[in-house]
Amino acid sequence: MNQKFRYQCVTCEKEIVTDEIIYLCPDCERKNKPGEPLRGVLKVIYDYDMISDDISGDSLFSVIKDDSYLDLLPIEQSDTIPGLRIGHTPMYEVDTFEGKPLSAALYIKNDARNPTLSLKDRASVIVSAFAQQKGIDTIVTASTGNAGSSMAGICAAQGQKAIVIVPENAPFEKLTQIAMYGATLIPVKGTYDDAFDLSVELTKKTGIYNRNTAYNPFTIEGKKIAAFEIYDDLLGEIPDNIFIPVGDGVIISAIYKGFEELMKLHLTKSMPTIVAVQAEGSPNLVDNLDREVFKSVKSKTIADSISVDVPRNFHMTAKYMKSYHGKAIKVSDDEIIQASLQLGRNTGIFAEPSAAAALAGFLKMHRMNKIEEKSVNLVMITGSGMKDMAAIKNYLSLPKPIPNDLDKLLRYLDL
Ligand SMILES: [Zn+2]
Repeated sequence: MNQKFRYQCVTCEKEIVTDEIIYLCPDCERKNKPGEPLRGVLKVIYDYDMISDDISGDSLFSVIKDDSYLDLLPIEQSDTIPGLRIGHTPMYEVDTFEGKPLSAALYIKNDARNPTLSLKDRASVIVSAFAQQKGIDTIVTASTGNAGSSMAGICAAQGQKAIVIVPENAPFEKLTQIAMYGATLIPVKGTYDDAFDLSVELTKKTGIYNRNTAYNPFTIEGKKIAAFEIYDDLLGEIPDNIFIPVGDGVIISAIYKGFEELMKLHLTKSMPTIVAVQAEGSPNLVDNLDREVFKSVKSKTIADSISVDVPRNFHMTAKYMKSYHGKAIKVSDDEIIQASLQLGRNTGIFAEPSAAAALAGFLKMHRMNKIEEKSVNLVMITGSGMKDMAAIKNYLSLPKPIPNDLDKLLRYLDL
């Protein structure tokens, strides 16, 4: 077996080398209980010294990048990646907000520009490429909507079949996307957590390849590339603070892992301060960071993509946040909607509530004078506002039609 990566269990830290499909550490998986975050989530590790030695000098990062970061991904050939343009999303600098100049630099990285309009495409593409390499033609995933529409879209591009299990209250737009991409869409009576468990049962019974976030170790591998792009977009500088919306804890762990790998490759010495932003109505990751025993509250928030009762990747996220002094902040639904309106009106970017939550976290800390002057801040926009229109219905009233008449129009415009 000549495999360029191995796995390390986040819970017991045992290393596992296998070219078989594996989801969780077998020893730790046995201790998993319903209603608790997953034990035994696997982290993919590479031979960083070898990668670093092979390509030495200043060009290290550009060489890795030119090869689609293949050295740092669990796939062998880049031709198993579907032809859709994924990642390389734009980053913009914003200098005023809420009508006032900001006291610190703010960059917005817009991952809503991925093919299915969310950051989840970064994960789906690696899962899909790995499946292609293994000759697997069907992939199942549980989803609040974005991961499912992403897997459906990527599978469509790759000629694979997707089975997507969603909670019955997933937004209409995301369900429509899944159906339009030709996936098998299965709404279940229950929550995302129920959909997650059901999809794992299906995989255990049938062997169908499972993309579930955290459960499949490769979702983090795809998402970490966002960190490489941030490094690249800022020409090797590391932001002081990065704001990430948090539900399951996978995107935030992926951003940590991306920067950690840059450190292991000696490309940077420091880890940015990563701020985990959760909705007040779904605080199950940040509220448990200092608890001995995990306790969950029933989630209720407008931000459906980060509405999670049991954050599956809690343990990895907590480890990263403790090791690298991460921060956490909670935002209300009202703050999320206000941030979404501000973002749209300041930048022309329309973010879904879950994505706007990250900006709400930045704006809240800025208002509280908790952002250092002149610091460099980055907010990750993880999904498009077009994905969840109902969420903003109560906050936005559209104008009534006027008669088709110039005088009436002038009066309406007060001209
Ligand atoms: Zn283990």
